Amino acid sequence: MAERTDVVVVGAGVSGLAAARRLCEGGLEVLLLDGGGEPGGRAALMPPSKPDGLRAGSMYLPPGARALLDLAAELDVAVEPALHDSALADLRVDEDGGVHRSDANVPLGTSWWTRLRNEWIFTGFARKTRTVDLAEPWSSVGAAGLDRCTVRDWLRSYSSDSRLLALVEEALTLDAGLPADRISLLWLLAHIGPDLPEEEDFLRLDPALLVERMAAPLAGLVRTGRHVERVRQDEHGVRVSGPWGEVAADRAVLAVSPADAAHVAFAPALPPERERLQRDWPQAEIIRTDLVYWRPFWRGFGLSGGVHFDDGVPAWTLDDSPVDSTEGRLVAHTYTFGERDPLGADQGIAGAPVRHRALLLENLRVALGPLADDPIALTQSSAGPGTYSRAYQSPTPPGFLTGYGPWLRRPVGRVHWAAAETGVFPGNGTLDGAVSSGHRAAEEVLRES
Ligand SMILES: Cc1cc2nc3c(=O)[nH]c(=O)nc-3n(C[C@H](O)[C@H](O)[C@H](O)COP(=O)(O)OP(=O)(O)OC[C@H]3O[C@@H](n4cnc5c(N)ncnc54)[C@H](O)[C@@H]3O)c2cc1C
Repeated sequence: MAERTDVVVVGAGVSGLAAARRLCEGGLEVLLLDGGGEPGGRAALMPPSKPDGLRAGSMYLPPGARALLDLAAELDVAVEPALHDSALADLRVDEDGGVHRSDANVPLGTSWWTRLRNEWIFTGFARKTRTVDLAEPWSSVGAAGLDRCTVRDWLRSYSSDSRLLALVEEALTLDAGLPADRISLLWLLAHIGPDLPEEEDFLRLDPALLVERMAAPLAGLVRTGRHVERVRQDEHGVRVSGPWGEVAADRAVLAVSPADAAHVAFAPALPPERERLQRDWPQAEIIRTDLVYWRPFWRGFGLSGGVHFDDGVPAWTLDDSPVDSTEGRLVAHTYTFGERDPLGADQGIAGAPVRHRALLLENLRVALGPLADDPIALTQSSAGPGTYSRAYQSPTPPGFLTGYGPWLRRPVGRVHWAAAETGVFPGNGTLDGAVSSGHRAAEEVLRES
């Protein structure tokens, strides 16, 4: 006998948890199914076998992340400014292993434009961001033209200064997780939006605590280890099944990335546009490494802990130590772009955590000295292919948003779509987008009930 509920939510990441909380508040019965070993999805940075006492570090958000900030306030999850001390120097390790001081070479999240503040190219970009419809970029005036254009082509139409172009392209690649010739201008305009935050305005929170507090009231409703293989629907309801059995419900919320939804069999088949959207969804994955030290020793050398590596593994680090400096913490992001890697990354590292760790520690030793390659704890959140998406951002290639955007959130019968990738811009692809998408999907279901 299939278990029965009002709404089955597939995916207990932040978007699925946000949807389930809203549905419960609306008086509906809910079950959450997740194929992983614990709730949290991509926000659960630590592997389940985490070393004792080690907690994952922060995730970062801009001050305009309204849905996430409201939720954090409701759940009493502290939000604090990201560390930023302009008196401390960032470092760059060049391709020959030379170490240089620089005061602005490590982008924090989506802040590449802070490096363009004084450039005329920035004005042109800022003007364009104001024309984009953040809820539905594909409906913006001139959307087709903007979406046809790659960011690289647009940049080149503005400037032939190769140094400037290289700088912008590199910063963009680090931020978005894909090279500029694979990203549509429309996506970038929507991703950045009209309110350009400065680097020093960025905030941070503990994603593990956020997940824990979101999941607590749903205890008993979350079933982990339930990989969903099939979703069938007819005029009576929905049936969601996997090797573990079946759940029947009035409606389903698929709170999984489009790339993950591509692996689920739907009956009847999804509309072709939705299927293509899922099949072609671009994945920009990174390896995040959290390193813990006795203290933030780099500050004693006048350094911020922010290092941008052109040598060894392409990565950048930032200081994630607690404000009271009771321990030192660095977060390192290593990019894995696949074969056409513009940063020349050694793609072998994605499936080789031991090698990645050794290369990263060697990088850090060169930049910050011998103390850096002797952390008291180190964890790599993702290294190599896993069962589900580990995408960090969701930049789309030319033509994608205008071609498939309208299908991102459009329900298919009794199936509704959540996930960060379906969130409104500029939070789309981030924790904020995950929260807002869960709320939106829940509202859709509540309206139908
Ligand atoms: C390393 C890293 C660093 C990041 N840093 C930041 C940051 O600093 N700031 C920020 O805002 N965002 C950051 N992000 C992005 C953020 O974590 C995600 O946008 C957000 O967590 C996505 O939540 P979600 O619920 O949409 O999807 P997910 O977290 O992917 O949740 C989907 C869930 O569905 C489950 N699932 C998938 N398919 C199936 C299936 N067939 N059956 C059953 N279960 C299934 C998965 O196990 C998963 O738990 C980062 C992401 C990564 C990977």
